Amino acid sequence: MEFEDCYRQGQRPKYECLLFDLDDTLYPLSSGIATACLQNIKDYMVEKLGIDKSKIPDLCNLLYKNYGTTMAGLRAIGYDFDYDEYHSFVHGRLPYENLKPDPVLRSRLLSLPYRKVIFTNADGVHAAKVLHRLGLEDCFEGIICFETLNPIHKSAVSDDEDDIEFVGLNNTFDAASADVPSTNTSSNSDIFDIIGYFAQPNLGLALPKSPIVCKPSEDAIEKALKIANINAQRTLFFEDSVRNIQAGKRVGLHTVLVGNSQRVKGADYALESIHNIREAIPELLEAEMKSEVAYSGKVAVETSVTA
Ligand SMILES: [Mg+2]
Repeated sequence: MEFEDCYRQGQRPKYECLLFDLDDTLYPLSSGIATACLQNIKDYMVEKLGIDKSKIPDLCNLLYKNYGTTMAGLRAIGYDFDYDEYHSFVHGRLPYENLKPDPVLRSRLLSLPYRKVIFTNADGVHAAKVLHRLGLEDCFEGIICFETLNPIHKSAVSDDEDDIEFVGLNNTFDAASADVPSTNTSSNSDIFDIIGYFAQPNLGLALPKSPIVCKPSEDAIEKALKIANINAQRTLFFEDSVRNIQAGKRVGLHTVLVGNSQRVKGADYALESIHNIREAIPELLEAEMKSEVAYSGKVAVETSVTA
């Protein structure tokens, strides 16, 4: 068969893996999930950590900017809390009902003959709920989530990031332990004043480090790639966050900004919607056709995560 010969002798497909952010990437920002999530984070800071309401907007902004997530920033400046409790509070009351099954995206994903992996800063329970709501549970080989990069569920701060022990790809669908543990009372006696720090810089003080590993840290992305055995040079990374895209680019990923058709620095492609995945990136379609020819008669089998 000339096509098969061509496939064997010819160039291998440019990509072997598609790496997807979850929130606001696999569903649109207009779902309202992000807005509700931010409100829940603010409520947590006031209700559980006892932070003055008037400081919340500035604090959220600074923590998110400097640490990747507000949660990572809160831990860095000295708040102590249980990660599961935080996630349960912040994600537990989200309007998941706004997310509807997306059969169009599902069939597009299933038609693309590549490894497909989720990479989210959120916890596994949230990721599983979102994928379930979207009807995409079986479209991905695995999920790299908060617990994958931060497997030690203790609030003890570690100064040495290297002592974090990594586990394999999280099978988040058996993450049944979503129950809320009792509230940890934080000892807030020594909270780093990050608002004061930025109001009056050059005090010779360094920003404290967070024990939490998350995007957009290059280290977090590299660790995620290692855990899932992903070669950055042969992977397309889909993200709605510009800074995550830029960090992804720095570690060698090919990048696709989702949610905006305007390309930004660091983005190789830009898609208004993830639904445009094939049309906007012709190489994907080419590989799909090649694969159909090369493997004609065989059904592309998706590796699914155990339900
Ligand atoms: Mg996102």
